[in-house]
Amino acid sequence: MTNTAGGDSRADFTIVAKRRVSAEVVQQIQARIRDGALRPGEQLPSERELAARLGVSRMSVREGLRLLEVMGYLRTDAGRGTFVAPPPEPVGGRVTRERLDLLEDETLFEQLAVVREAIEPRLAALAARLATPEDLARLWERHAEVGRHAEARDLAAFTRADLALHNAIADVARNRVFRHIIDDLQELLLEMRQISIADLAPNRLGDTQCEHQCILEAIAAGDEAAATQAMLDHFAAQRRAYQVARQRRPAARGSPPGSPAGG
Ligand SMILES: [Zn+2]
Repeated sequence: MTNTAGGDSRADFTIVAKRRVSAEVVQQIQARIRDGALRPGEQLPSERELAARLGVSRMSVREGLRLLEVMGYLRTDAGRGTFVAPPPEPVGGRVTRERLDLLEDETLFEQLAVVREAIEPRLAALAARLATPEDLARLWERHAEVGRHAEARDLAAFTRADLALHNAIADVARNRVFRHIIDDLQELLLEMRQISIADLAPNRLGDTQCEHQCILEAIAAGDEAAATQAMLDHFAAQRRAYQVARQRRPAARGSPPGSPAGG
């Protein structure tokens, strides 16, 4: 008889999903808000109490609360505590099931980044070819809006304004098929930005402004190659920043180095 202690079992194991503990914190609190157990204006229990009730570390609670704040579900009032915010407006898009997975699944996160890197530099090039003076005025307006939210450190508004700027570039590219793809991905694209900005250092906000400035200058100059490159540089900078942020975060687990960031 063969000794199976060494483990030649044929049992079909699958890789345990790489997920963040904070994802569960986020999902539980979102569920309590959705089912009305937590109502707008209501104060959340303290970090310590939440940690005890959820059976996770305070660091995971803090990380989850920060993300929920960027997502617009919570508002922190310095010195008073954390409160449930009025429900954030949906941005539309149809990939709702995957939207939930994005928080849990680093692989999907990476796949979305690859799609963005394939599509958005091309959109920037088309925008450089086609932009009218009116288009450019609208792009600079969006850019200024991102800047205002960055200055106010309003991360929830910043992520939405950033998405709006990238959408505006897609509009200028005047390709209905590309626009359709982008429309379907709106929720995912917003959530990608929220997840990454919650992890990043504050100086990333200023850097993002500079990178957007380069993209818009290239579009304004009608320089397709420069616009492509500027968009690629934007994504590369996000990846670098995200990598540094993840290395600083001892509570993070199971995330491969070099995961992408959205912005
Ligand atoms: Zn951006």
